[in-house]
Amino acid sequence: MGRMTATPGPQPATTPSGDASRRCDTQPTRKVLLAAPRGYCAGVDRAVIAVEKALEQYGAPVYVRHEIVHNKYVVKTLEKKGAIFVEETEEVPEGNIVIFSAHGVAPVVHEEAKRGKLATIDATCPLVTKVHKEAVRFAGDDYDILLIGHEGHEEVIGTSGEAPEHITLVDGPADVANVEVRDPDKVVWLSQTTLSVDETMETVDALKGRFPNLLSPPSDDICYATQNRQTAVKQMGAEADLVIVVGSKNSSNSVRLVEVALGAGARDSHLVDYAEEIDEAWLEGVSTVGVTSGASVPEILVHGVLDWLAARGYEDVETITAAEESIAFSLPKELRRDLRAEAKAATEG
Ligand code: SF4
Repeated sequence: MGRMTATPGPQPATTPSGDASRRCDTQPTRKVLLAAPRGYCAGVDRAVIAVEKALEQYGAPVYVRHEIVHNKYVVKTLEKKGAIFVEETEEVPEGNIVIFSAHGVAPVVHEEAKRGKLATIDATCPLVTKVHKEAVRFAGDDYDILLIGHEGHEEVIGTSGEAPEHITLVDGPADVANVEVRDPDKVVWLSQTTLSVDETMETVDALKGRFPNLLSPPSDDICYATQNRQTAVKQMGAEADLVIVVGSKNSSNSVRLVEVALGAGARDSHLVDYAEEIDEAWLEGVSTVGVTSGASVPEILVHGVLDWLAARGYEDVETITAAEESIAFSLPKELRRDLRAEAKAATEG
């Protein structure tokens, strides 16, 4: 959409090492291309606020099943406020409150919570819920559902759990040859929300080669936030020598941004949780650095990276805007109830 230059860039928060300064002295220009949109999406914002509100309203501890969003900094910050992160619902003591993460859970997890006499808050992103509903509907119509996604990812586990008898996971184009269906004329594909748009279409094309009557989902499953962040990175990738993606290693959409940057022509690209993880050696011979962040990354971490770069001479920041975002989701409705009283009643019942 557009470009905007902001000079001077962010103020240095750290002092560059002498080595880095010497290394960069010979470079003619140093600038940063900053992707927009980047960082928090509406689903992540809602999930993080849901945990904060729950802590405020009901007091600590509030349990959260799995990382509420895939970001180390967010998880640590919420832990400090009193959230306790667990891997399984069974780890939560009876009579407590448990929040389900933005990635969604299978119906069996809701049943576990009920058996464990827990009050629940479902912070599943509404765009993930949309895919769950599609899976239920197509399974109800007796389709074989080919779910394109990454094996072991929480979202894929949650969606598959909606209709395990009907869903087959397809983890990329290489997996297509192994897919078996009952009726090749009654097959539909769905996808994880945070995949690479281009790779997913490659997988779909390969699936269509095998199943010409393959049905497509009624609307995009790859969410607006994933698509917009990839579009912005594509725009900067061709110009940037190095693209730094702020995000955690277990964040699917962040990992995809590194791949998209390299695919778009960036010479080098790395994923970092914090500015401190940037290796000075990556800047060797680099005049243009692209910066973006995954959908679960708070802006403070991007500012840390911009400060780090500014301290090394990359002070000019030009924003590359691929889309404007204004989507917001309302908070989980459970937050309007007295969940402590409900959890207590469950243990007495
Ligand atoms: S990345 Fe997309 S699907 Fe995932 S939480 Fe954000 S908006 Fe929802």
